[in-house]
Amino acid sequence: MSSADVTILGGGVCGLYAAHTACRLGAHVQLVEKGKSLGGLAAGHRLGENWYDLGVHMLHAFDAEIFQDCAEVMGEERIEVPLKSHIQWQGKTYHYPLRGRDILSGIAPLTLARCLLGLGIAELRSRFSAKPHGTDAESALIELYGVPLYEFFFEDFTHRYWGRHPRSLDAEFIRRKMPRLSAVDVLKNGLEKLGIAKPRDAREGAMRFETLHYSRTGAEAMPRLLGESLQSAGVTMLTGETIIEIHHDENSITEVVTGNKILTGTDFVSTLPLPDLVHCLHPAAPPDVLDAANQLRFKPLTIYALLIRKDRCMDALYTYYRDQVFHRVGEPKNAGLEVTPAGHTTLIVETTCEIGDRYWQGDALDEILTGLSLEGLCEPDDLVEHHLIHSAHAYPIFAHGFQKHLACVTDYLSCFKNLRTTGRQGAFTYPNMHSAMRMGAEAVKSLLQS
Ligand SMILES: Cc1cc2nc3c(=O)[nH]c(=O)nc-3n(C[C@H](O)[C@H](O)[C@H](O)COP(=O)(O)OP(=O)(O)OC[C@H]3O[C@@H](n4cnc5c(N)ncnc54)[C@H](O)[C@@H]3O)c2cc1C
Repeated sequence: MSSADVTILGGGVCGLYAAHTACRLGAHVQLVEKGKSLGGLAAGHRLGENWYDLGVHMLHAFDAEIFQDCAEVMGEERIEVPLKSHIQWQGKTYHYPLRGRDILSGIAPLTLARCLLGLGIAELRSRFSAKPHGTDAESALIELYGVPLYEFFFEDFTHRYWGRHPRSLDAEFIRRKMPRLSAVDVLKNGLEKLGIAKPRDAREGAMRFETLHYSRTGAEAMPRLLGESLQSAGVTMLTGETIIEIHHDENSITEVVTGNKILTGTDFVSTLPLPDLVHCLHPAAPPDVLDAANQLRFKPLTIYALLIRKDRCMDALYTYYRDQVFHRVGEPKNAGLEVTPAGHTTLIVETTCEIGDRYWQGDALDEILTGLSLEGLCEPDDLVEHHLIHSAHAYPIFAHGFQKHLACVTDYLSCFKNLRTTGRQGAFTYPNMHSAMRMGAEAVKSLLQS
């Protein structure tokens, strides 16, 4: 039996920063994480002689307080890296985020004219029409960008990435997970100058120049060092413990049960995937809440982590691909990762998938190697070793109408006054690391200061 003022469920970056905040506010804290190491999606994976991330995970400095805290615990292990990323499409390399001149040189003049006309019409419509916004992602994209640009870029892109047609995704998906297309801003700027477009909102903004933060061992350093600093501040860190039951009475959580331990306490912050949290409740949640939780689904991700006998494969931190089975390839050595042996590099090849499908099983390796060769990155013979890294909860899927299921679950959970559910999985949303950490801090403050 272990007891604390604040018990944090899940040791991803959200849970870690929640623990850090609770500790700073003077609470006695315990944190329970099912993985052997900390970091969740942002954890590093030591495979063979090298470290691999689940996608190249780089820290943004947008939240000054969080960045300062991370920089402090990382000390000399933190390195600064200028953002350099590309999009590879139809044999051409574009900057990511897209720049205006990329669009002008990359799109055939007739298509460009159609896209501009469509964009102009969409802008005029949104300016003068009181029509409500569409509820699915297809109508939201067409409202924003017009039919030609939707058909030219967004329809296929969204379908391939998510394995779902935009019609089956919610309009909210576009609001929260918009591809960063600064080129569209450029086009809209032109229309704005002609008085056609109205001022743009923040979600379309994209930073072309940014300093990112990383380490010579990849993403693993930040959560590891944050965990170590928590431990020295007296936080009880329980790793390798899977939560299987969460006991409650009418309006509060009473204890959390893992395979080996029972954790009690005053307040609880859960960063577990929302459906998992609901299914752990004991007594069980009402059937309508369980049904709603089952409707909240996630898109899994398989990483093909490759050690390549070549000094470098690409001239960027990562590149997005439109025409391949993988949608993004990262080369963390270009961000300063140390790779063993010398003269070798590693590639992080990302494929969205379904649990148990051929991508998940690792059966797509040959197809991936062929794609990497076609893109000029490396040849199949250059492969020294490969590993698979899985995430069953990489991306929440905003299926059409998901909000009512989310509201049903969160309304029910709000009856537990000493529980907050937060973070990427617990709030069913799309934060970067710093935003997930901010969510953890806010959840703790709302419990301790209420
Ligand atoms: C491919 C990819 C690349 C990304 N790249 C970046 C990037 O470059 N920069 C950036 O800022 N953000 C990036 N992100 C976003 C970022 O990784 C996440 O938003 C952030 O790490 C979420 O943290 P979290 O703690 O909220 O969730 P998670 O990391 O998912 O943490 C939840 C934790 O709960 C634990 N858990 C679950 N169930 C149980 C249980 N039953 N018992 C005990 N523990 C349990 C999990 O093991 C996990 O550690 C990326 C995301 C993806 C998918």
